[in-house]
Amino acid sequence: MNLLSDLLATARDVFVGSFLFDLARYLIAASLVAALVRALRQTSWASRKIQRREASRSDFIREVSASVRTVLVYTVFAVPMVWAFQNGYLREYQGAVTPPAFAGYLAAILVAHDTWFYWTHRAMHHPRLFKSFHRFHHQTITPTAWTAYSFAVPEAAMMFLFMPVWFSLVSTPIPVVFTFLAVMILRNAMGHAGLELHPRGWASHPVLKWITTTTHHDMHHGTSFNHNYGFYFSWWDKLMGTEHPEYVATFDRVTQAAGSTLPGPANATKAA
Ligand SMILES: [Zn+2]
Ligand SMILES: [Zn+2]
Repeated sequence: MNLLSDLLATARDVFVGSFLFDLARYLIAASLVAALVRALRQTSWASRKIQRREASRSDFIREVSASVRTVLVYTVFAVPMVWAFQNGYLREYQGAVTPPAFAGYLAAILVAHDTWFYWTHRAMHHPRLFKSFHRFHHQTITPTAWTAYSFAVPEAAMMFLFMPVWFSLVSTPIPVVFTFLAVMILRNAMGHAGLELHPRGWASHPVLKWITTTTHHDMHHGTSFNHNYGFYFSWWDKLMGTEHPEYVATFDRVTQAAGSTLPGPANATKAA
């Protein structure tokens, strides 16, 4: 009974604030990326639209409604996590953080989250899990920024679970956590933008190719469910042989004309 009343007390303290914080995070990132895409489609960058198909109004309504539900799931799970912090079951980071330490923590949490995402994503594509966990997200064939949190409840829970697992292993400075949350939602909205936002040559650049593009995740929705599972980085897909064989060619084709005054051939990029 004590535990239950403790949890209820924590819920009273944090539920509304946590819900509004996560909802704002989603709405701000999705609307910024959606507005950017809308503006770019009035320019020569319109040719960077990855799919010919347009997302429908019913896609938008389903995705925004599901994203609000995802925020609710995150909030419900945040209550016991906050309680665990308050009661010493999860460790809080003490002290100041230097810029190099900040960068190190941020890199570590991004790499860990990417790994979590890749392997849970692959697991959710297993026939036993797909229907209940991940089919909902794949109702979206043509993603937009609003698709970012369009998850079934079990998938939303799986996404949230990374946080307590990470915090149980690493006590992390608060500024790193908030930066991570900002990067996460922004990259999520960019990955679903539907219009390629990365510079020409990115997917074949010796360093940048390890960071995913919009085309990378767009192909997972529109071209092949069985390729391109990664989130921030492409190394798991490259390592496990799950990168779509047409990924680089598709990226080069999509970015071929726009972003340059010279509508040059794709191999002009390769030479650079
Ligand atoms: Zn997606
Ligand atoms: Zn998937």
